[in-house]
Amino acid sequence: MDIGFIGIGQMGKHMSRRILEAGYNLTVHDLKKEAATPLLERGARWGDTPGDVAKSCRVVISSLPTPQDVEQVVYGTNGLKSGWKAGDIYIDMSTGSPSTIRRIAEDAKTMEVAVLDAPVSGGTKGAEAGTLAIMVGGDSASLERVRKVLETMGQRIFPVGSVGCGNIAKLVNNLISLACNSISAEGFMLGARAGINPEVLLDIIKVSTGNNWCAQQYPDTVFKGNFEPGFKVGLAYKDISLALAFGEEYGVPLPVGAAVQKDLQDTIAAGFEDKGVDAVILPLEDTVGVKVRLPE
Ligand code: NAD
Repeated sequence: MDIGFIGIGQMGKHMSRRILEAGYNLTVHDLKKEAATPLLERGARWGDTPGDVAKSCRVVISSLPTPQDVEQVVYGTNGLKSGWKAGDIYIDMSTGSPSTIRRIAEDAKTMEVAVLDAPVSGGTKGAEAGTLAIMVGGDSASLERVRKVLETMGQRIFPVGSVGCGNIAKLVNNLISLACNSISAEGFMLGARAGINPEVLLDIIKVSTGNNWCAQQYPDTVFKGNFEPGFKVGLAYKDISLALAFGEEYGVPLPVGAAVQKDLQDTIAAGFEDKGVDAVILPLEDTVGVKVRLPE
């Protein structure tokens, strides 16, 4: 089966490589061609535009930063829509807006193209290892047609409901996870300021009720002063903003989510938009004058 992949970023570079290694013919596209070099060296083909990718592939996957980027890839000049054929499947694996993907799906339906939203969780480590959790919105027949392709990226595939529902599940996950990210930074800062060894604190938290995935990343990130992405602060801000907008649409107050949005906004204002999301601790460290680090 010919598969197209658009968006060869922190996630897409691993996800597309896994598809290629599973033996599929792969055509790739990104705004930056150099992002695809390692894939092209391994035998992937290059598509000059999303439309070219759609013309040569029955299934096209995207992993893009924002809903606006997804709209650009679908509707822009030489976008996917210009290359779609009846019977094609488009899978957007970005974290995005349920209403945007629903609009695209309605439109694609008129061309007999099926759309699935299939955002993922597990970070770049999960993408690299092929252990992502994949939350799928869309019709089950289309999901079954592409299940084997999705399984190259992660075995835990959750059908959530109609198109858009994958993103609803993902935004709920990220609302919770980004709150854990911000509160872990505050907790470790408080502990460090009061003289507790952060490594001992993490050992305690990992077997206690404060345990969470974000704190578990600290040995590779905060403790080493390594804030390279990973998952960028700017993308986390996009996700929390999408979650808050969704809460407003459904009349669900999200005051903790609003505090997390402010935390991410402050981190961006401090110049860390392109750093990994653990960088929310950096402005706090500057304020307090203590760093949560382990000796080399
Ligand atoms: P990224 O910024 O590293 O990569 C995005 C890629 O898309 C870049 O290479 C960029 O050049 C390309 N791109 C942007 N607009 C484009 C366009 N119009 N046409 C072609 N290419 C375009 O982002 P990422 O971290 O890989 O995240 C991708 C998606 O996955 C986001 O929606 C993000 O929220 C989600 N996500 C990320 C993580 C993570 O840990 N990084 C985890 C889960 C979900």
